[in-house]
Amino acid sequence: MKVTKLTTYRLPPRWMFLKIETDEGIVGWGEPVIEGRAKSVEAAVHELGEYVIGKDPARINDIWQTLYRAGFYRGGPILMSAIAGIDQALWDIKGKALGVPVYQLLGGLVRDRIKAYSWVGGDRPADVIDGMKKLAAIGFDTFKLNGCEEMGLLDNSRKVDAAVAVAAQVREAMGYDIEFGLDFHGRVNAPMAKVLIKELEPYRPLFIEEPVLAEQAEYYPRLAAQTSIPIAAGERMFSRFDFKRVLANGGLSIAQPDLSHAGGITECMKIASMAEAYDVTLAPHCPLGPIALASCLHVDFASYNAVLQEQSMGIHYNKGAELLDYVVNKEDFTMNDGYFYPLNKPGLGVEINEELVIERSKNTADWRNPVWRYPDGSVAEW
Ligand SMILES: [Mg+2]
Repeated sequence: MKVTKLTTYRLPPRWMFLKIETDEGIVGWGEPVIEGRAKSVEAAVHELGEYVIGKDPARINDIWQTLYRAGFYRGGPILMSAIAGIDQALWDIKGKALGVPVYQLLGGLVRDRIKAYSWVGGDRPADVIDGMKKLAAIGFDTFKLNGCEEMGLLDNSRKVDAAVAVAAQVREAMGYDIEFGLDFHGRVNAPMAKVLIKELEPYRPLFIEEPVLAEQAEYYPRLAAQTSIPIAAGERMFSRFDFKRVLANGGLSIAQPDLSHAGGITECMKIASMAEAYDVTLAPHCPLGPIALASCLHVDFASYNAVLQEQSMGIHYNKGAELLDYVVNKEDFTMNDGYFYPLNKPGLGVEINEELVIERSKNTADWRNPVWRYPDGSVAEW
C-alpha cells in the first residue's frame, strides 16, 4: 500500500482535519492543528507530506522519525502538530487495513472505561455553579474551570479573593460529590501562583493546571513543595524531549500531552510510558474535535496511568460547531455516568461526514484567541 494524497480542511470552530488517501482505497483521518495558527500547521502538513506520499503507510515508526529528524530543525507547536495529524491518520489507516481498533494495536485494553471531565465556562461563581449542576444532571462529577481572570505579575488581594470565592462557592453549593480542577491557563506568574495556591488549598481542587507556563517549568517542583494540590501541565509541551526535563525535575502529578500537538499517538504513548515511570498520571489535553478525542481515547485505553480525559462538548470557546457535528457514528461516543467506552470500529473508530466537512470548510473564518491587556496597557496572557 502507498500513500497517494493528503488533503486538509480547516473547519469551524477552530479545527483542521487531514485526510490521507492510499492506492488501495483505504483512507485515514487525522486532526493536526494549533488553535489560532491553523494555516501555519496546514502549510507544515503539506511540506511534510512530501516525505509521506509514495510511502507505505504501515511504516508509521519510520515515517514519524523521518518527519521529526529529516528536516534538521524539529519540535515546537507547528511542526509537532503537523506530525501529530499525519500520525493519527496513519494509525487510522493501519487499523482499517488490519480490521482492528487502534487500541488493539497498542497492546489492548488496560481498562473498561475512562472518566471524562467537562469544562465549565464563566468567571462568576453563579454561572460556574449553574453550569456544573446542568452537567451533573447528565452524569458528570468532574469539572475544570478557570482558576482566575487575568492576573498581574504582582496583583492585589481583591483579585485573589475573587478567584478564591469561585472555589469556595462551588464547594458550598456542590459539596464533595464533585471534583474540580482549576486551570491557571498560563495567566499566573510565579509570585502570584504561590499566593493563589495557598489560598485555594482549603477547597481541595483536584488539580491546578499550568500554575505557571510550561516555559517556567522549573517552578513546578518549588510549587509542589509548598502544596498538596496535584500539579498538572503538558498542553504546551510538544514531545517526549519537552516532557523529559519536566518529569526529571519533579513537581508534576498529571501529564497532559495534547494528541494533536505532541506528535500524535506514537509520541504520546511514549510520553505516557515515561510519565508512568515517574508515577505521574496521564490526562490528555483535548479541547479539540472528534479525531483528536478518538486518538486520546485509544491511548487512554492502552495506558495504565491514564486517569481522566478532557473533552470539548459545550466548551465555551468552541463557537460554530460541536464535538460530534462532523461524526456519523455519534453513538460510539456516548458517555455513561461521565465515562467514555472503547471505540471498537477498525482504525480510530470515527466515521467522518466528509460531505459536511467539505461544505463547512469553504470560507472558514480564522479563529484567534482574545488579546487581553492589563490596566496599564501591557499585554496579558489569555
Ligand atoms: Mg489548560
